[in-house]
Amino acid sequence: MRQAFLIKYGEIALKGKNRHVFEETLVKRIKTALSDIDTEFKITRPQGRIFIEPEGDVDADEVCDALQHVFGIVYICPCILLEDKGFDDLADQVVAYIDKEYTDKSFTFKVNARRARKNYPLDSQEINAALGEKILDAFPEVSVDVHDPEVMVYVEIREEINVYCRQIPGPGGMPVGTNGSAMLLLSGGIDSPVAGYTIAKRGVTIDAVYFHAPPYTSERAKQKVVDLAKQVAKYAGEIRLYVVNFTDIQMAIYEKCPHEELTIIMRRYMMRIAEHFADSRGALGLVTGESIGQVASQTMASLLCTDAVCELPVYRPLIGMDKQEIIAISERIGTYETSILPYEDCCTIFVAKHPVTKPKLSVIERSEEKLADVIEDLLDEAIDTTETIVIN
Ligand code: ATP
Ligand code: MG
Repeated sequence: MRQAFLIKYGEIALKGKNRHVFEETLVKRIKTALSDIDTEFKITRPQGRIFIEPEGDVDADEVCDALQHVFGIVYICPCILLEDKGFDDLADQVVAYIDKEYTDKSFTFKVNARRARKNYPLDSQEINAALGEKILDAFPEVSVDVHDPEVMVYVEIREEINVYCRQIPGPGGMPVGTNGSAMLLLSGGIDSPVAGYTIAKRGVTIDAVYFHAPPYTSERAKQKVVDLAKQVAKYAGEIRLYVVNFTDIQMAIYEKCPHEELTIIMRRYMMRIAEHFADSRGALGLVTGESIGQVASQTMASLLCTDAVCELPVYRPLIGMDKQEIIAISERIGTYETSILPYEDCCTIFVAKHPVTKPKLSVIERSEEKLADVIEDLLDEAIDTTETIVIN
């Protein structure tokens, strides 16, 4: 019996060429996810299935953990692969497998056989009954429950036979690289890493822009964003992080524009710069962690003013979520602990006491005219001095 992992993947509605791209990209992502593990893997793709077979001994939990970061995977099933040497041999192997997997045998079970190769002498029902009997004979403590078994013993008869009892949920979604690319505005907060994760889950490749404002924001605040990018990259794959020095632009806005409009105006310049880098990467959209009404700059009126400067669509995957829902995702994907580290953010330093919650676009545009004689140079300078960090 050989140890292997059966991968079940979703999006069954995919047809024709799309399905092919989905599967090939998924295999590529699986290979990358497993590249840190110290053995070679053979990956095969018989009809509608992916099998991963380690060439040496591996820790199954370590493999499953790596695979739980690969979008497109719905279930990971640690399994065994057997050659067909007749039913008696199959029964012996299944009994040995259950014996190894479960030290405590006081459980209910059901055999769920599928005969994908029709020339196998027993049909599914016959396999279920005969195997069930063999298992009952081998382990006196087990009993059958066909309606709600604690352990489902899956047996699939193909060219080879595979047997598994556990289906570990994968992250779902679509493999990264199947749906274009986007530029994420990544801050050190809770929301934007979750937004990056969420959009990448739909197969979108992401890069990111971080605006920092030294000396008002520290090296540690920047490191925090790099760390967050690394955590998102575990799911999203390689991320190019653009670290933009935003200090001079913020100072200019602070000096020349009404303070209650600071955040909106600042946000509009962030969008303009993010769009520059998005274009340079061929990205098809911008992504932020905003959700309606969360703060003054995220009211419908504020979002309208922000979007007015963008040519690309702005995707806000968290738009309808409450903070608690966002926190739950950030805890699950492992960004929360980093996000709550108490380092300053450029937005919070230059924030006004009473920011406008219903900005008018024409008013904001008029305020921005006060920057006319300096802003082009400042934008060029910010773009020219941007540091690029490749995160993988
Ligand atoms: P987050 O938790 O993601 O920081 P937030 O609730 O603090 O969000 P804001 O500070 O208003 O909200 O930011 C809204 C969005 O703008 C963020 O989700 C992020 O996409 C973007 N953003 C804010 N500050 C920065 C920054 N310094 N660099 C890059 N993007 C930023
Ligand atoms: Mg923030």
